Amino acid sequence: MELLVAGVALACLALGVAIGRRGAAVDAEQLRRLGAVDAPRAGPEEVVRRVVERAEAAERSVDLGRRDLAYLADLTGVGILLVDEDGRIALANTAAHVFLDRPPGGLAGRTPMEAFVDRRVEEILAEARAGGAAGGEIALNESEGPSLVIRARRSPVRGIWVVLEDVTELRRLQQIRAEFIDNLSHELRTPLSTVSLLAETLAREADAAGAAVPPRMRDRIAKIEVETGHLVQMVNELLDLSRIESGAAVVHLDDVDLGRLATASTERLRLFADRQGVPLRVDVPEPVPAVRGDEARLGQVLVNLLHNAVKFSPNGGEVVVRVRVDGDEVVTSVEDHGLGIPRAALARIFERFYKVDRARVRGGGTGLGLAIARHVVEQHGGRIWVESEEGRGSVFSFALPVRDSSTIGAGS
Ligand code: ADP
Repeated sequence: MELLVAGVALACLALGVAIGRRGAAVDAEQLRRLGAVDAPRAGPEEVVRRVVERAEAAERSVDLGRRDLAYLADLTGVGILLVDEDGRIALANTAAHVFLDRPPGGLAGRTPMEAFVDRRVEEILAEARAGGAAGGEIALNESEGPSLVIRARRSPVRGIWVVLEDVTELRRLQQIRAEFIDNLSHELRTPLSTVSLLAETLAREADAAGAAVPPRMRDRIAKIEVETGHLVQMVNELLDLSRIESGAAVVHLDDVDLGRLATASTERLRLFADRQGVPLRVDVPEPVPAVRGDEARLGQVLVNLLHNAVKFSPNGGEVVVRVRVDGDEVVTSVEDHGLGIPRAALARIFERFYKVDRARVRGGGTGLGLAIARHVVEQHGGRIWVESEEGRGSVFSFALPVRDSSTIGAGS
């Protein structure tokens, strides 16, 4: 700071000499900017005194602003770094020092690689330098240290700002939740499957016994069968979601013909749809190119969408499955003319356990079907979305990238 003020003083002295020599000829605008409005009358010493005063005040204000910003940066609880153009850390707040296990002031001047000891941070910074923004997550010290979410953004002024968020506790809780759901579902699955099988047998035997079993008893047995079926489905979906979320689910990659898969999935739902009085139709106007994927998982997406479409359709309301090519994507859509989804719910529909209105669900449901569908589609590098109008129906669609230009046979 002293250096700067001394510099300004020297400059002013030179200016003062010039004023002395050239009097009123000195650039009045320049003097006004320096705060010496009546400089020609004030004399060189007075001008220098005023300019130095102003420079000191400006320095004080900059220093206060800097301290205020540093305080604010610490208040946020996130780590903040500025990596300069020379690839070295120019600024770092307290949280960044704590996360990266450095003493106060121990980060300035280091390279990000020295600070993080992880190559991925270099990659994130290179991506931000090239594209403006980048992000990722790393676990420090070979997962012994904190898990940090890193967001890097190119500054419009200089260098790259890096924001670090400690997500160690969040990841630990997510892990506990996933393990809990996984264990619970496993424990429930075996006894439930047995109960479901027994209920099925009982229902068949009651049917076969005819008049020997009173109608009320037959009705109750049928209800037990249906409800156990729902429980089994729920447990299976919970297990599926925890496997899919852990990334372990998509394993069998193959060329998949979505036209054929649409027909096969529709057939799987035919009996259920017939019972609900909902006609099903498949519309694949021309052969579609193959997509690369796990056929069983993609079939599950289609079944989930179809199951919902039938479940939320009125008696007689047709459900249509369409498969078409759009640019370098294959788009599959399931259209119904049922309840539709309120606008406010559209944004949340793919969240796990989300249901629009618990009271309106015919035949139960876990609220997991669409979350599973979204995970599967995204794991295949695709997108899933919905268009819907309450009271008129919904169209759920997903797009998957075409594998190559070869086409394989169309569905029916
Ligand atoms: P589930 O159907 O098991 O409840 P999903 O995740 O498949 O779970 O669906 C979440 C919610 O989205 C459903 O409970 C329902 O409210 C709404 N929904 C899904 N598909 C449709 C549809 N085709 N028409 C109307 N609402 C739907």
